Amino acid sequence: MRLSGKVAVVTGSSRGIGREIALAMAREGADMVINYSRSKTDAEESATQVKALGKRALVVKADVTDRPQVEDMMKRVVEEFGHMDVLVNNAGGFPIKPFQSVTDSEWEHVIKLDLTSVFLCSQVAFSHMRSQRSGSIINISSVSGLVGAVGMVPYSAAKGGVMGLTKALAREVASSGLTVNAIAPGIIETDTTLDVFPEAALKAYVTYQVPLGRLGRAEDVVGLTVFLASNEARYITGQVYAVDGGFTMQ
Ligand code: NAP
Repeated sequence: MRLSGKVAVVTGSSRGIGREIALAMAREGADMVINYSRSKTDAEESATQVKALGKRALVVKADVTDRPQVEDMMKRVVEEFGHMDVLVNNAGGFPIKPFQSVTDSEWEHVIKLDLTSVFLCSQVAFSHMRSQRSGSIINISSVSGLVGAVGMVPYSAAKGGVMGLTKALAREVASSGLTVNAIAPGIIETDTTLDVFPEAALKAYVTYQVPLGRLGRAEDVVGLTVFLASNEARYITGQVYAVDGGFTMQ
């Protein structure tokens, strides 16, 4: 098993991609921290599924945009497990709204949720990981941050920011033995995606823009996430990998 002995925190792992990442990491031998902000029942279900795989699961309610809550979460992780080896910054959201009608507070909300959260969780996790002289941070960005998305200016800005953060942080913490990488998924079929995107837009996207001809599935993202958290990826840092069925190939 590729993650035996590791403790992994996956933000926003109550559902969607985060839950699938948590389960895949548990299958590879990691003990898991399931984080959520509102969906308690879903988070408990993620934890039940992790435990069914024979691994430990700590459920922590923490809003990843709030420093004190992030600090409490990471403190609890270290108290419970004694160490923290992997942080997956997955929590995020992707509202759609025409640029001209985005308000200041909507802009600030998206930047906070999709970019500031990555800064906060990484900074607090680093303060624990640096003493171990090892650790992997994996940021879930988006192809929107690479090529932009109509109706998603704040989100695309935030996810592009995550890529810059990933590279700068990777350089800065390399000497402490940490790696930092990002994954940029294309559209992945989750409950939220099906809510947010009109069916016709999804159909046009897969038909005309995705060479592999379908939406992504959460399980398409997890393999790379597990790999980047494993010791096999110890010489890989500062990279952004698209998982998008070929959508952004050049
Ligand atoms: P999702 O199904 O909507 O799940 C979002 C998760 O984030 C939930 O567990 C949610 O938990 C948590 N969350 C939201 N706000 C939070 C906060 N303030 N603090 C802590 N947790 C919070 O989303 P998804 O589709 O799986 O997307 C996961 C990540 O992949 C996001 O960063 C998204 O931008 C990125 N991504 C998704 C797609 C896609 O097509 N789905 C494509 C590219 C990138 P609560 O309900 O408890 O708040």
